[in-house]
Parts: sequence; structure tokens; C-alpha cells
Amino acid sequence: MAKEVLECSFCGRKKPETNLLIAGINAHICDKCIEQAHGIVLEELKQSGHSAQLADLVLSKPKEIRAFLDQYVIGQDQTKKVLSVAVYNHYKRLLQKQLEDEVEIEKSNIIMVGQTGTGKTLVAKTIAKMLNVPLAIVDATVLTEAGYVGEDVESILTRLLQAADYDVAKAERGIVFIDEIDKIARKSDNPSITRDVSGEGVQQALLKLLEGTVVNVPPKGGRKHPDQKFVEVNTQNILFIAGGAFDGIERVISKRLNRQAVGYGSSKSSDSIDKDNLLQYIIPKDIKDFGLIPEIIGRLPVLTHMDPLDRETLRAILTEPKNALVKQYKKLFAMDDVEFSMTEDALDFIVDKALEYKLGARGLRSLCEAILTDAMYDLPGSDETELIIDREYAEHSLSKNLLQRLQAAS
Ligand code: ADP
Repeated sequence: MAKEVLECSFCGRKKPETNLLIAGINAHICDKCIEQAHGIVLEELKQSGHSAQLADLVLSKPKEIRAFLDQYVIGQDQTKKVLSVAVYNHYKRLLQKQLEDEVEIEKSNIIMVGQTGTGKTLVAKTIAKMLNVPLAIVDATVLTEAGYVGEDVESILTRLLQAADYDVAKAERGIVFIDEIDKIARKSDNPSITRDVSGEGVQQALLKLLEGTVVNVPPKGGRKHPDQKFVEVNTQNILFIAGGAFDGIERVISKRLNRQAVGYGSSKSSDSIDKDNLLQYIIPKDIKDFGLIPEIIGRLPVLTHMDPLDRETLRAILTEPKNALVKQYKKLFAMDDVEFSMTEDALDFIVDKALEYKLGARGLRSLCEAILTDAMYDLPGSDETELIIDREYAEHSLSKNLLQRLQAAS
């Protein structure tokens, strides 16, 4: 009797016609049928997907969100609190949407005002990490009106799609962080700009995204691939967080506060104003006076500020966050069996230098790199098992060559 040739129980292909035939209890399946079945499963999941995906969303309470932020971000109390509530409400709104109800909860997009390097991006990243949703970080300065050199506003959503591995449903509940939003403010005091390429036009385009609309997004971005098919993305449930330094807005705030202080019924005397941190008094009108159109401000209803980083905060940033710089270096050296530590004096020295050269939190990293490069070069492969960085070592290796470079780069 001829030997029986195995075949796929689904399509009937004989074993030699397949690349792979997998045996089950009473049947076989070939590679092609597996692929096809997998496609069907994905399609099915996509159809029923939205609600299934939302079910995955673990909605943490504001206090839990805050506690998570505390692990990564030092200080910035007001922002943490305001953001925890805004994020909580945003995702509550998403879950609520499935119920038919008269009351529609409005979106709580956020705007954070604070000097560069105070943790705005870090906050957005940490929230996305906590919620396990995709995050796109975009720079408003590259955005231009459609047709001009630069990126269309839709490119923001291309980034989000990419961050979501092209899973549209996932992207539609993601977070977009728009950095340098202040750079698209109307430049009313600059009459030499005849065409406002990166000003009000971009704000108008952005407005549509913030409002919630269905946008045709080129999945690969840009105009380089004119033939690509567009993907429809609904921005209704995307949380937008905008950030900006708003250089000079202190003047606007201070002017307003002074006016208020001399006005009738003023509650705040000018003496009680903390002049070193005027941003804490910011109100939406200040942003309007700075040059953002009122509609944009209306679509970013949650306004918060970042405190400038003082000595104590910078010091804590070095050692306390979950992935603090010192912890990172410890880990790096440990991989070479070197026990690494820094004395309190050395840490203070680094903070002093960061303050002296106005390098902010970002400077801490460059300073550490400058101090540790020699050790990271020499120690691997050597017999050393311990490295203690004291103030003297830090001063010496820093003064060797890098301070000028850091100054030049800052
Ligand atoms: P911004 O977006 O405000 O310009 P970033 O979030 O990019 O600032 O901050 C730059 C880096 O400085 C971060 O990656 C982080 O390491 C550090 N940093 C800044 N502020 C803080 C903070 N409050 N807590 C912990 N780290 C911070």
C-alpha cells in the first residue's frame, strides 16, 4: 500500500506543497492557512477592538497618578496635581463615552508653561508610560501651514500612529505632547514678517486637531510619498499636552499684577508677590496677550506652570528619581564589576556648576559625563573594583577640558 501523504486539513494542500505542516490531535494545518487565520483573527479583533482596547485601560485614581509621577519627577507639585486630575478626567471621559447620556464631558487638554529643562517633556512621557498609551512628541516650530516648507500639522498624527505601531484605535487614545507651543504665537510686534508662515495659520490648523476631528493622515508622513493611502484618525479622544517656555511672559504677568495691586479692591499687595517665580500667577489671559489665539487657549483649558529648578531640586534630581543619573552610572559601572559612588561634596559641586553656568537639569547629565568619561574609559578591563568620586576628583576632571565646551553649548 502506498505511503499516505499528509495534507492540510483546511485547504487540502499536500505536505510537499507547503512550507510547514503542523500536526494537531486529529488534523494538520499548513503555514498558509495559519497566516490566513491569523489575518481573520486580527480583523475580528479590530472590529470589536475599540471597546476591548478600552477595557485594557487601567484607570488610576488621581492620587495614584501623582504617586507614579513622584517616582520620576522631582518637585512641580502644582503641575503634578493638576495633571493627575486632568488625565484622570480625560480617560474617565473616554470610558464614559460608551454610555448614552446627555452630559458630555469635555476634553481636558493641557498647557504647561515653564522654562526649558524643568521637566515638561518628562511629565508627559511619564504619564504615557503609566497609562501605557502611545506618545508622540512634536516640536511646534517645525509646523507650518499646508503648502509651506516644513511639516503639515497632520504630521503630528503620523508620529502618533508610528508610536502606536500603526494601530489606529490605540493611537486614537494616545497622548500628543506639543513642545514650544509659544513659538507659534502671533508675532504682532514684528512688522517685517509679511507672511505669517509659522504663526496664526498654524494655530488655526492646530485648532482643528485639538477640537476633535477626523483627519486624513499620511501614515509615512510628509509629501515624500505622494501615492500613499491616507489613514483616518479621529482626534476626539487624543489628549493634547502643550508646553512652552513663553520667554518674556513674566513681564506680561508682572504688569497685570501691578495693575491689580493698585486697582480698587485688590487683594494682593505687590509685596506679597514672589518675584522669583511669577509664572505661578499665570492666567489664560497672559497667554493671550503673549500671542496665542483665544480659540487655542480655549481648547487647552487646563493651564499649569513649572517652577524653576532651585538648588535643592537639582540636587534631588541627581539621586532620587527612579532612573536618577547617579543610579544609572551605578548600573553602568556595576556591569564592569566596579562599585560606583559619589560623595555628598561631589554632588553639591555638580549642582553648583549647573547653577553657575545656568545649565539646568539637562546640564547635570553633561557635567556627569564630563567628570566620568576618563573613568568610564579606563576602568573596564582594569583591576579596579571601586570608584568613589569626591569633590576633588570632580573638580579636577571637569576643569581639565570641558567647562568651556559646556558653556559654549549652553
Ligand atoms: P522641558 O521639556 O521642560 O524642556 P525636559 O522634561 O526635557 O524639560 O527635562 C530635561 C531633563 O532634565 C529630563 O530628561 C530630566 O532628566 C531632567 N529633569 C528636568 N526637570 C526634572 C524634574 N522636575 N525632575 C526630575 N528630572 C528632571
